[in-house]
Amino acid sequence: MKINTICVHSGNKDDDTYGALHTPIYLTSNYRIPTDGTPVDWSGVHSNIYARNRNVNQSVLEDKLKEIEGAEDCVTLASGVAALHSVFATHLKHGDHVICSQVCYSAVNILFRDILPEQVGVEVSMVDTRDIEIIRASIKSNTKLIHIETPGNPTTGISDIAEISKLAKENNILLSVDNTFASPLYQKPLSLGADLVVHSMTKYINGHGDALGGCVLGSHELIEDIKLKAMVNFGGIISPFNAYLINRGLVTLPLRMKQHSETAMKVAEFLSTLPFVKFVYYPGLKSHPQHDIACKQMTGFSGMISFALHTTEEKVNYTFLDNLSLISHAVSLGDGETLIVYNDKSSEKLPYYPIEFHDGFFRLSIGLEDADDLINDFNNAFIKCNLK
Ligand SMILES: *Cc1c(COP(=O)(O)O)cnc(C)c1O
Repeated sequence: MKINTICVHSGNKDDDTYGALHTPIYLTSNYRIPTDGTPVDWSGVHSNIYARNRNVNQSVLEDKLKEIEGAEDCVTLASGVAALHSVFATHLKHGDHVICSQVCYSAVNILFRDILPEQVGVEVSMVDTRDIEIIRASIKSNTKLIHIETPGNPTTGISDIAEISKLAKENNILLSVDNTFASPLYQKPLSLGADLVVHSMTKYINGHGDALGGCVLGSHELIEDIKLKAMVNFGGIISPFNAYLINRGLVTLPLRMKQHSETAMKVAEFLSTLPFVKFVYYPGLKSHPQHDIACKQMTGFSGMISFALHTTEEKVNYTFLDNLSLISHAVSLGDGETLIVYNDKSSEKLPYYPIEFHDGFFRLSIGLEDADDLINDFNNAFIKCNLK
């Protein structure tokens, strides 16, 4: 089956009782256990015992995701961060060394800079993974994992998955890729040699801004380990209701991604023409420093843009935000609504970003509105700021 069909049909289980076309929401925390003496695997994830071991809506969602991403196995968890943490907590132990993209999701940054070194004794190098030579130079005898985010949140910097995976394999190191910005539709890290792919399903996969979830995909061996620990023992399972919503959102993933990408390209081109815009980074623009790598490993450029205004007055950035009416100043991304976040000068994360970002910048998640309406919204706000 091809991608549109997979997104509609995969995962659904036949409902023998009523013949429902969609798997109903199974709101049950526990199931009847056989009383015929069959041994019970109390901490297993392959039979119905308790909803922390597995639940029906979770299985439906995981089966669909496996086919979309082309993976042998999948685990879904309560949030993107729960999914990321499940990879680190399962596959790293005391004394292991990790190389991680210095531009990465804020919780990963804190996990690797503070929590895991301090509490677990993991050694970490946060480096610019856009440069393969920097990664090569950072490898040590105890390097166990390379974790990259590409495109990176929030700068859209691109790391070369195939090159990094080659390097990782030569050195017997696991490679995990946070694929949230690209979505499974536009980037397939497993086919480029990565061992694990992580998504915040809260974003494009769900697409409606109404449920949190995360997933990890990869070989059965690597995922089984994560399932046993992260679900049964750490307890970060996804609720049946969220799994249902996300499975429902996935039906339109290909349609949504096409629209996000087309509109993002138009908005990125529009912003690039403005004299008072300092920079625009969108992987689809020829001016993006890693555009060639993006073309090589992505089949679409998704909906994430970062840009900055040429201004010495911080106030102008806030006046601009305040005068947007269609576009909301809010975190998260991949929703139907266009969202913008201002990373101001005082943001504690700024020092970890490339130098051009240090004066503050905007991260834009292009929604499903018409490009003309978004461009009008920008134009009106720019006029209110006297930007010409
Ligand atoms: C949002 C996000 C996460 C975290 O996901 P949650 O679902 O909010 O926990 C991780 N990585 C990236 C790239 C994200 O954008």
